Amino acid sequence: MPSSAEHLDRVIQEIAAEMAARPDRGTVATYIPELARVDAGAFGLVVIDADGHVAAAGDCDTPFSIQSVSKVFTLTLALGMVGDRLWRRVGREPSGTAFNSIVQLEREQGIPRNPFINAGAIAVTDLILSGHKPREALGEILRFMRFLAEDETITIDEAVAASEQRTGFRNNALAYYMKSFGVLDNPVEFTLGVYFHHCAIAMSCRQLAMAARFLAHSGRNPSTGLSVVNPERARRINAIMLTCGHYDGSGEFAYRVGLPGKSGVGGGIMAVAPGKASIAVWSPGLDAAGNSHLGRIALESLTKRMGWSIFGA
Ligand code: GLN
Repeated sequence: MPSSAEHLDRVIQEIAAEMAARPDRGTVATYIPELARVDAGAFGLVVIDADGHVAAAGDCDTPFSIQSVSKVFTLTLALGMVGDRLWRRVGREPSGTAFNSIVQLEREQGIPRNPFINAGAIAVTDLILSGHKPREALGEILRFMRFLAEDETITIDEAVAASEQRTGFRNNALAYYMKSFGVLDNPVEFTLGVYFHHCAIAMSCRQLAMAARFLAHSGRNPSTGLSVVNPERARRINAIMLTCGHYDGSGEFAYRVGLPGKSGVGGGIMAVAPGKASIAVWSPGLDAAGNSHLGRIALESLTKRMGWSIFGA
């Protein structure tokens, strides 16, 4: 009888082999020019179980651009700073529109539908920035990531940040539109500067799965026992990941995978099986909704084999 760690190791390796054999890989994002340079064939998967066992497969130590996965951590930080006042600036309903959509902002007086679409994440970044210089706010975000992952080597990919800063016209439009309703407090160029840089944080699947542990374990880092957020906050962040973490692909992700998860256009997905495991997967090719194509398929296979869907086996 294999131990549960051995079983998990085997499952992870099998999934990585299955993904390597698939011809369908999705399409790498090119609207941020620097992201187009990434190897479309890369694939990494890391799962950390409740005992701290790290199961890793494929390109699990290659740093990639975490992009919108960073929005889970900025939301956590902002809730720590301003608490429930955050919900005056941003809603918590699924958007049913693309991650960079502007249409709903007009109907709802510049208040974005949730903290994970671009508009919502920009509003959250603006809250973190208030009272700080952009450099300090960014330092705070990076320190938080390093603390959670227990890894001081995590850095920002300046080439990716500069690339988005040059070409992020849509995000400029979203930010100025919100600013016109008084939803942003800081100069738009400062807020977007911090936003582009936190999206450009580079992390490996191993580092991301480490950073997600607190969400899988009621707000606590299971290795140190230290509380990062209280259990209620962890539960609520997970709820928003489930309903909004994959934009207008969130329903499909819940249906197929059945875990709270957050995607980024760099091809990463961070997911949590509450009480059981934190998970990070990376495959740069995206589907039509801008979520990792093989990343989702790999997670679907993982939850099915492990019986980890929150909706039951
Ligand atoms: N930095 C990206 C953008 O603003 C993040 C989008 C994403 O990962 N979905 O467009």
